[in-house]
Amino acid sequence: MSAFREDLDLAADWVDAYLARVGGLPVQAAVEPGGVRARLPESPPEHGESFAALLADLDDLILPGVTHWNHPRFFAWFANTGSEPGILAELLIAALNVNAMTWLSSPAATELESTVMDWLAQLLGLPRSWHGHIEDTASTATIAALAAARAVRPGGVVYASAEANFSVAKAARLVGLEFRTVPVDDAFRMRPDFPLDDATAVVATVGTTATTSVDPVRELAARCVEAGVWLHVDAAYAGSAAVCPELRWCLDGCELADSVVVNPHKWLFTPMDCSTFWTRRPEALHEAFALVPDYLASTKDAIDLKDYGPALGRRFRALKLWAVLRWYGAEGLRALIREHVRLAQLFASWVEAEPGWEVLAPHPFSTVCFRHIDADNGELARAATATGEVFVASARFRGVEGIRLAIGNAGTTEADVRRAWEVLRRCVP
Ligand code: PLP
Repeated sequence: MSAFREDLDLAADWVDAYLARVGGLPVQAAVEPGGVRARLPESPPEHGESFAALLADLDDLILPGVTHWNHPRFFAWFANTGSEPGILAELLIAALNVNAMTWLSSPAATELESTVMDWLAQLLGLPRSWHGHIEDTASTATIAALAAARAVRPGGVVYASAEANFSVAKAARLVGLEFRTVPVDDAFRMRPDFPLDDATAVVATVGTTATTSVDPVRELAARCVEAGVWLHVDAAYAGSAAVCPELRWCLDGCELADSVVVNPHKWLFTPMDCSTFWTRRPEALHEAFALVPDYLASTKDAIDLKDYGPALGRRFRALKLWAVLRWYGAEGLRALIREHVRLAQLFASWVEAEPGWEVLAPHPFSTVCFRHIDADNGELARAATATGEVFVASARFRGVEGIRLAIGNAGTTEADVRRAWEVLRRCVP
């Protein structure tokens, strides 16, 4: 057996054992800033070392400083999943190591990317005629959308709700557009009746970061179409829910938008990073990003994905999305999403039934915002997380501090959610 083959077996054994034991590890790393660095050698080795030595250090030096996102009781921010097909596909991606910058640079990478984008559009009920490609993150996809919007209508304002993710403000700043927030209603949804005269773009959110509220996309789209303003929909978290027909309402009106982003690396069981981005106006993206240096001549009748976003070098991310879609099938994805939504509703019902606790916002997906009415909820979230049994984060909801329980890991069971509830109740001072 070659040395590489032996190392491959070591890596496979390590990954298999990690996935089997991760549920028993403390979810959040308990290290001080600088603690990991202090244990690492000052300089790189002069002579090559074995992979086995690296794995030993991974266990001893690195794992104590890892916060385990692949833990079934990771409930902070938006929980995600490094699924088995995703892990295997990442290995294949590294082995192939193609750069999907142009069609010619690896034809299969570009064409698989178009294919999985079409497959996912079908699963989510988005128009199949749109251009779709994969970006690293929703932040980058929103930069791309706003750059395209600016190409159509330069110099205006970007409007998003006060609950929009801060990546929208950052993207506006990067492309040199002014950013303004719009107030929300009682259910944390953007009020659609603001003036659009000076707008370049509106960004609506389907599944806001704090409460997972859904902005009125159809109403906003009608207004944006009339005003000639670009509507970008940030469905980074909740867009994945649309694989279930009963949750597809969340993307209602998106067919009238100019662009949409959904993150399979949030709630579609695909390892970091994979952000799917569609637009019905690819020519505006092309205008914003296409530059053709002579060493990268384009191919007739082919699409060069470097012309549709900020990056030149592009990973073969389509391969892992392909692996995930094939491994689970539409049916498997629906079953997981439904189970997460069921667990979130169950958790909310426990909170509602318990004196001294309250739910703070509507919870249509897999995230519940709640609080203990007499406790310092930031402190409560920290105390629960310090047990190592769960990881929950606090957030402010209309000025009120509360806690979010975000379910999104494929390994999470009802017993894990029940344990989180027990830990939280135990930690109330
Ligand atoms: N949009 C929403 C609603 C989010 O919650 C987040 C991150 O949590 C983002 C965008 C940014 O996503 P990314 O980390 O892929 O840039």
